[in-house]
Amino acid sequence: MDQLSKFLIGVGIALWIITIFLPNNGIYSVALVLIFVSYLRAFSKNHPQRYRENEGFLRYYNKVKGFFKGGSRPGSGNRKNQRIFTCPSCKQKIRVPKGKGRIKIKCPKCGTEFIKKS
Ligand SMILES: [Zn+2]
Repeated sequence: MDQLSKFLIGVGIALWIITIFLPNNGIYSVALVLIFVSYLRAFSKNHPQRYRENEGFLRYYNKVKGFFKGGSRPGSGNRKNQRIFTCPSCKQKIRVPKGKGRIKIKCPKCGTEFIKKS
């Protein structure tokens, strides 16, 4: 199962649990459809297509996640979640999110790419 299927099934089960406490045919149908679709994807033989769907989903998902994870104005107090690196070629200071492991950083000033551990 890829991330999209896991996401679909996660949301589906969450909605399904909601309907246990709050019976609602609309939510229940959505939950069933989500779980059904995630199973269809899991057993689908069309892997390139599934892969593309998943890629698209991840792009969108990461955007949404970034938005909720303090994608607010720069320098607005979430400094402890960021690390400052200095570009090896032009000494430009670059802020990157913390705790992402090894990441590739691209200098916004001169375009140099370098790998750092955040
Ligand atoms: Zn640079």
